[in-house]
Amino acid sequence: MADELQRWFRDRILEDFSLQLNEAQLGQYETYYRLLIEWNEKMNLTGITEREAVYEKHFYDSLTLALIPAAKQALRMADIGAGAGFPSIPFKIAFPAIQVTIVDSLAKRIRFLQTVVDELGLEAVTLVHGRAEDIARVPAHRDSYDLVTARAVARLAGLNELCLPFVKPGARFVSMKGSDNALELQESNKSMRLLSAKLDYTRELQLPLEQSERQLIVIEKLGRTPKEYPRKAGIPLKQPLL
Ligand code: SAM
Repeated sequence: MADELQRWFRDRILEDFSLQLNEAQLGQYETYYRLLIEWNEKMNLTGITEREAVYEKHFYDSLTLALIPAAKQALRMADIGAGAGFPSIPFKIAFPAIQVTIVDSLAKRIRFLQTVVDELGLEAVTLVHGRAEDIARVPAHRDSYDLVTARAVARLAGLNELCLPFVKPGARFVSMKGSDNALELQESNKSMRLLSAKLDYTRELQLPLEQSERQLIVIEKLGRTPKEYPRKAGIPLKQPLL
């Protein structure tokens, strides 16, 4: 039986994103919350642990992706630097048919995610331990996803080089940020151009309780990734394409 917080969450998701969550899906979010708190005692997964805050700042925040039509229609998504699973695991719970690939360079986070996938009974989720720069060189991952996401991983100029090589030409990379990214956007022009992409649009929104600002930056991939990118692991964030 859903409690007050779960009913609030279900109603907000329906009203704000037109997504209907059933009891089983609400149960999956609650199990995810429980695992997050349990494992967070043994390893650093999140600074946000209060239940209501996890529902708002992790689950709701991840589902804001549903405001992007290209994200809702995607069949295959890659989430780069997903950490404890954001935004891809909350998104997968709401869209059970989507195929998800998660890439993260920290093995213990991948171990946590394997437990989440097993306990929630999620299907078609592939967990890849490695640096995005290396995994993007593997043909099965390069230029092949119809949605690529990253939340709170790095500044956009460097992040573009980690994420855009995974995006299929014509598809989108959605970078999920806080507010005030004007400067970051300005300095990311060159990286988009070099990686065969362009800014499509941005979508501003606020979290429902905390009212903090969020921005979704939607970038369109125009053609295949030039063969010199991404550069060697570590270089994109150390020497971004400015
Ligand atoms: N996206 C999650 C969120 O919003 O809560 C996690 C953000 S956490 C600040 C950044 C994550 O990116 C970490 O889990 C880290 O291991 C991963 N990461 C950083 N650089 C990476 C790289 N080059 N390739 C793959 N993962 C990377």
